[in-house]
Amino acid sequence: MRTRLLGLALIFLAAASTAMASVRTASGLRLGQNGEITRFVVDISESVPFEVKVLGDPDRAVVLLPQMRFAVDPGAGEQGQGVVRGFRVHVTEIGSSVVLDLNRPVSVLAAFMIPPRDGAGHRLVVDLKPQGPPDATSLTQLAALTPPPPLRKPPARRVVVLDAGHGGIDPGAVSAGGFYEKEITLAMAQEMRRKLLALGRYTVVMTRDSDVFLSLAERVRAAREAQADLFVSIHADSIGERAHRGGTVYTLSQTASDKEAEALAARENKADIIVGVDFGNQPKEVMSILIDLAQRETMNLSAQFAQHLSDEMRQRVPMNRNAHRFAGFRVLSAPDVPSVLVELGYLSNPKDEAIIRSPAGRAKFAEALAEAVDRYFATLAH
Ligand SMILES: [Zn+2]
Repeated sequence: MRTRLLGLALIFLAAASTAMASVRTASGLRLGQNGEITRFVVDISESVPFEVKVLGDPDRAVVLLPQMRFAVDPGAGEQGQGVVRGFRVHVTEIGSSVVLDLNRPVSVLAAFMIPPRDGAGHRLVVDLKPQGPPDATSLTQLAALTPPPPLRKPPARRVVVLDAGHGGIDPGAVSAGGFYEKEITLAMAQEMRRKLLALGRYTVVMTRDSDVFLSLAERVRAAREAQADLFVSIHADSIGERAHRGGTVYTLSQTASDKEAEALAARENKADIIVGVDFGNQPKEVMSILIDLAQRETMNLSAQFAQHLSDEMRQRVPMNRNAHRFAGFRVLSAPDVPSVLVELGYLSNPKDEAIIRSPAGRAKFAEALAEAVDRYFATLAH
């Protein structure tokens, strides 16, 4: 296999944001050819999840990667090889992508990470072949080149982000007894944190741990920066109808999410939807694929957790008849973090207020959350 190595002059493409949490680096983007198979290789500082999509009209293969720094030779992507005419790199805060421009339709023969060995670091390899019947010779040669799949890393400790609604100048709803939602949600979040930490299985991050104001976007960003596995926003509703009572768990709806993704793709500046995301020169189709991929998976997971949580809450506290609902809450719009918004109950209802504000009531909510978190991650492990 002939591999062309690229030059030494490097430029760094990076999302124009201070929120670059990761120092992951991709370098040495290169193309090789073996018979009809075109191989794309990139050196990555660590093993990362990835996905390869093939798009038509014009023909492209898009390698989707997490957000990282790219060290790329200025002329790197201009010269093609095999089925690849050239490549382009795009970096945003929700992910990176390498677009391989193709000279014909292809299929992805293989895509895999090679763990460090023989002095080389982690490498991502993508093999493309022209569409058509498989060529036996090339497949045999390729099998010899393909290393065994990398070992799975043990899962790290799960991160749960608790988001106490409102705060600072934003008091939220006012209870029947004259208490602010912002105080009630913080006390609840603190009790939930205590309960979760006591299990010894989770890292808990609070978006706020005092009476401060945070924008919705800052809350979403906090979840993403913490690399949250789960985001729980805590609220308590209030309406004119004092008889109304019971808790509700909300997730983003399919419809709202699709519109969200559409809006993201269409607008010039998405900063107020997912703060800090610099879509820069990201082509529209790549951006919407990235968001769509992340969001589809995330919405399923959010709905699973919401179901566990509403089940557990129903066993302990009053709930709305329809306890899992879907809505377009902006605080739930982190595309890559499963998220729910809990309305603990109605502060306008004195009975609900009494439960939500009492230490015994808080303990019940915290217990329901801890059970639901355990059940959710146990299901994921299978
Ligand atoms: Zn609220």
